[in-house]
Amino acid sequence: MDLTRTLAPDVPAAPHSASGERADLHDLSGLAPPARPARRWLPRRVVATPAAYEHPHGRRIMARVEAQGIEVERLRGNRLTGVRGATDRETYARAKATLAIVVSPPSRRRLQPIAPSADWRVDLAEGCPAHCQYCYLAGSLSGPPVTRVYADLDDILAGLAPYAGTAKRRPGEGTTFEASCYTDPLALEHLTGSWQRAVEFFGAWDEAVQLRWTTKFADVAPFAGLPHTGRTRVRFSVNCLPVTTRFEGGTARLEDRLDALRLLALAGYPVGLTIAPIMPVPDWPGHYGHLLDEVARVTEGVPGLDLTAELITHRFTPGSKDVLLGWYPRTRLEMDESTRDRKHGRFGAVKYVYPQAEMARLRAWFEQELARRLPACRILYWT
Ligand code: SF4
Repeated sequence: MDLTRTLAPDVPAAPHSASGERADLHDLSGLAPPARPARRWLPRRVVATPAAYEHPHGRRIMARVEAQGIEVERLRGNRLTGVRGATDRETYARAKATLAIVVSPPSRRRLQPIAPSADWRVDLAEGCPAHCQYCYLAGSLSGPPVTRVYADLDDILAGLAPYAGTAKRRPGEGTTFEASCYTDPLALEHLTGSWQRAVEFFGAWDEAVQLRWTTKFADVAPFAGLPHTGRTRVRFSVNCLPVTTRFEGGTARLEDRLDALRLLALAGYPVGLTIAPIMPVPDWPGHYGHLLDEVARVTEGVPGLDLTAELITHRFTPGSKDVLLGWYPRTRLEMDESTRDRKHGRFGAVKYVYPQAEMARLRAWFEQELARRLPACRILYWT
């Protein structure tokens, strides 16, 4: 496996939170819920390419990994062997248990627009150790799902400067950079420290810029005291209980994600909900209503709350369906083309979405209920 392969993210300029208070002066004592750490992933195998050793952040990652009792295997070159198993299931299991410390492919330095989430996509890693049966990475990444973390973080962050001032998507938020397109940051942060460094980098970057990332994990305590100056929006990827308990293996419990959202909101971060993938499961208004009520409960009394929602319905492509059925052969995830509308995405790729009437019903409900149950919440987009 070639580790250098390339594969098929609101804030005002002033260093203040949206409330106008200095974000890092919030007093959390007595207000924050207990920070319950998410389940922390410990890879069974960690490898590093020779080039990764040349980068200070690569060596920092190695030190973190070794401090957790895991040996780092130094590769001779950029090829990783020993991941393929006798069956697809075995290859999947081995890959999902492997962390590779690598240098990012050069193509990643030319940032790509990432609608509708942000102006630009910036990758600090790719791959994720969790096991969501609808995982969107299935249609984006190729080959066994090894998690790769980037040793050249400092160069990646330094390379963002030319993009400041290029905001197109939501100019009021500054230029936005999405840093969770191909991974889940909090699933890996205890092993890398990459997103803490990124938060501090944006915190010190005195321009109208915003770092964004979304997560299904809850281990946020290390972020609460960082000098973020309101330039990072952390969104929590959430769903109604029937979806999250059935399809999101290896992630943090919904309750813990919501406690984590409150903790970061109290620490002055702009926060958000990524409600995805929205599925019209039986009694979906009841289940999604419960979710919104829980968000209202955890955000109650947060001073200067800056909360957004991104609403994404379930969709799949022929390719992602194939990959997901290979990974989760017994999944009960509905991926029936005959019940869907066929649409063409960017570059002509086919995708299957809910029929127009269903989409309109779902959208109308979310817009109405978010306005009613979470009036402080701004919807950024529906798709
Ligand atoms: Fe995929 Fe996100 Fe689930 Fe990780 S947490 S398996 S990236 S959907």
